[in-house]
Amino acid sequence: MSQPSDGAEFAELLISLRRHLQWRQRVGVRFVPRGEGTEPELKMASNDNLLSDTDGDLFSDSSGAFQAKSLEELRAAIGDCRRCKLWPGRTHLVFGVGNPKAKLMFIGEGPGRDEDLQGVPFVGRAGQLLTDIITKGMGLRREEVYIANVVKCRPPENRNPESDEVASCEPFLKKQIDLVRPKIIVALGKFAVQTLLQSKAPITKLRGQWHSYHGIKLMPTFHPAYLLRNPADKKLVWEDIKKVIKELRDENA
Ligand code: URA
Repeated sequence: MSQPSDGAEFAELLISLRRHLQWRQRVGVRFVPRGEGTEPELKMASNDNLLSDTDGDLFSDSSGAFQAKSLEELRAAIGDCRRCKLWPGRTHLVFGVGNPKAKLMFIGEGPGRDEDLQGVPFVGRAGQLLTDIITKGMGLRREEVYIANVVKCRPPENRNPESDEVASCEPFLKKQIDLVRPKIIVALGKFAVQTLLQSKAPITKLRGQWHSYHGIKLMPTFHPAYLLRNPADKKLVWEDIKKVIKELRDENA
């Protein structure tokens, strides 16, 4: 592989620096003079959210999304998204659904056919199973929780989302999580789990144990679509969900 020239490296450095400075401007980072008793040289003047240290650059063409104060504002900022190659194949962008202040958030992979047609996550066969887990298993209403996906547009033939598609869409999921601020996230399936935890470990190793996503408790479990193909593993999901129910109870105690 050929090495980048010094000129190319310098140009890349300048682009990164420019992005960083734009991000600092957007999130309101200001220099404050060092004085006696004041330690930090930098101060977050606004938008001090739990993901702000990582997402400035990712939102480089989406400052409206980064600054959104509500899910409605975030949805509006995403607009008629054409940031990745999934947009031409979609019927609807599937943003998310549920209680904007939910304590519990479910995150799947990406819309399938039914979701794409209706614009709502988890409404097909796998969605029905998720709804059963929520209502019959947990005794909650679907409207009480929040449901979203890693990518918001349907990948062709339901293939796995590709890394560039995830890279375009993940900042919106992070912002969604930041706005809902759930106490618990249930990550559904290998893809969502590995994306959120930035891990390549198999779901069989990760599921059933508590993990942390930027300080939010995260429980990985199998995807409902996998359970439709492997119903014997429903009992494992039930074990994971029982841990979530207990944690929610403890949160409410
Ligand atoms: N599978 C997912 O991961 N998400 C959906 O919304 C539907 C099916």
